Amino acid sequence: GIGDMLYDSQIFDKSGNNKQDIDEAKSYLEKLDAFDYKFKVGDYFFNKWHFRSLITHYVTLANKGQMKISFKDLLTLLAGKKLESYADKITEYFTMMTGQDFLPNSPTMMNAGGRLGQLSACFVLGMEDGMEEIMKSTSDAALIFKSGGGVGINYSNLREEGDIVASTSGVASGPVSFMNIINTVTEVVKQGGKRRGANMGIIEAWHPDVEKFITNKTEAGVLENFNVSVGIWEDFWHALVNTTDGNYVLRSPRDRKPVKEINAHQLIDLIALSAWKSAEPGLIFFDQINKYNVFAKARQAPLRATNPCGEQSLYPYESCNLGSINLVNLAKRQADGSYEFDWQGYEEIIRKTTRFLDNIIDVNNYPVPEISTASKESRRIGLGVMGVADLLYRLKIPYNSQEGYELQSKLSEALTYYSMEESVALARSRGEFPLCAKTEYPEGKIPISGYYEKSKESHSYEWEPLIEEIKKHGIRNVLTTTVAPTGTLSMIADCSNGMEPAFALVFEKRVTVGRFFYTNKILEEALKEEGLYTDEILEKIADNYGSLKGLDEIPQWMQDVFVTAMDIHWADHLMAQGVWQDWIGNAIAKTINMPYDVTVEDVKSAYLLAHEIGLKGMTVYRDGSRHKQVLHMTSEN
Ligand code: ADP
Repeated sequence: GIGDMLYDSQIFDKSGNNKQDIDEAKSYLEKLDAFDYKFKVGDYFFNKWHFRSLITHYVTLANKGQMKISFKDLLTLLAGKKLESYADKITEYFTMMTGQDFLPNSPTMMNAGGRLGQLSACFVLGMEDGMEEIMKSTSDAALIFKSGGGVGINYSNLREEGDIVASTSGVASGPVSFMNIINTVTEVVKQGGKRRGANMGIIEAWHPDVEKFITNKTEAGVLENFNVSVGIWEDFWHALVNTTDGNYVLRSPRDRKPVKEINAHQLIDLIALSAWKSAEPGLIFFDQINKYNVFAKARQAPLRATNPCGEQSLYPYESCNLGSINLVNLAKRQADGSYEFDWQGYEEIIRKTTRFLDNIIDVNNYPVPEISTASKESRRIGLGVMGVADLLYRLKIPYNSQEGYELQSKLSEALTYYSMEESVALARSRGEFPLCAKTEYPEGKIPISGYYEKSKESHSYEWEPLIEEIKKHGIRNVLTTTVAPTGTLSMIADCSNGMEPAFALVFEKRVTVGRFFYTNKILEEALKEEGLYTDEILEKIADNYGSLKGLDEIPQWMQDVFVTAMDIHWADHLMAQGVWQDWIGNAIAKTINMPYDVTVEDVKSAYLLAHEIGLKGMTVYRDGSRHKQVLHMTSEN
């Protein structure tokens, strides 16, 4: 709301750079002279920090029941009649968040109005092969961790271990040792005491240290603040699936000269074995990520890194702020007690939140100037969803059924379609993103694979008129959608996370005063309606790994509808990820859950299927295989 207000009051220019300083903002607001100084906040009231912290204070007091006037009245009081219309917008945003219909990513919630004011979750930094460059990236990473963000780095440009260092006649320590430095920095720089930073470490398959990188994390206690992934390009895939010998050349990062030849099959075996043992490394398919990357032309380079959970591919120094719509809140109860999805409401909230995330780009305080520049050049936002599984439970549609996939496909298409449409509307009023003209957008290309790869008849929306609009007016955000893990957000909103099925429908929690069951709230309602809700049944479900499968007391329809991650076959997990990936601009944070007794061959088959489906990356988790997960499993999260 504040963002909207500032835009329309011309404090920001069209390209989104905050050119005028606080004094100009102050004099503009003074001119309004309709202010009622009932809230004296001193001389610096118009300082943007004060404005923000004022709102944060309002929320805190309102939560404690100590605020006697409505938020709208507060703003009207502050801003006077001329800004009344903005008060409506601010109230809208405010109720959207307190009603848990939409939440911005953790850093926005934790830092807005605070001293750091860093609002983005996702960052990518470069890592060039020189000591100064390495240390610059390390110091940038420290500042990002301090401000609450996660960082992805591709370490493939660093020369391999044992290679020469001309200036000292010494030998290089290799990328893995530099990852250890970043790991230690992460360890030491706590994020305002809230959570520790998170990393994505990437090495591409052609790097001479790739085997060491793959096996490095199978031991407990190594690179604990990292998720690691192997970056795959077309040439590797070609060697793997199209050649009989599978020969594949590893090259020096310094001069690209061949260092040694390996077998692509053996390398993928090694990756699969390691993932089978310890859930890492993941795979990132850079060929798929760049297939429809319309931004590559402007940057004169392909994308080569993702954020820690893989849902955001970014260029070095780019950042992205995310936000997620809680889909279960859009299931509306009908007169007969059944639920229907509110498509109209979905469109409205997509439009509103696209604006919200676009505003964040300008009120954001970036950790280093280079990040501010790169982020404002592309204006990337990551609008996503959470509560998908809960929505399906509520609509009584099995996640892994034809109907389930069709609904998820339409939800995904609608998200990107309406957010892109809104981004074009924003381009018309506020201007396109600064590098838009240099991308492939003006040629009528869009970064959405489903538009090209799914048959026209299966599209739910008319994409051609939208593409024409983009050609005419540009678009304000290079990409608008992503599906984040929503580790913290889904806990706050008490809904299933991202687009994942529930991990367990009931689980037992032991606390000092005894034990109790956490029950998925949609299941709880259904059990009550069926007259089945008792402590005994909850215990049975909890003892059945949180699943309803095979429990005699539970009717078949419930066993079919309330599926957990472990009930779903890994191939169906991949299908679901693919259904979302078709229409999402960036990528999907998803774990491909596998039972304990799958084989390494199964893991390999999953890789082949993932690539075939067109996924941008994949992570497997074999039940019981991992000692500790970086994200979401620790008390710090
Ligand atoms: P949240 O629910 O807290 O908003 P998500 O679980 O959706 O966040 O994660 C989104 C992104 O936020 C991740 O991909 C990563 O880039 C970043 N992130 C998540 N957890 C952390 C963490 N502990 N430290 C730093 N960044 C994190």
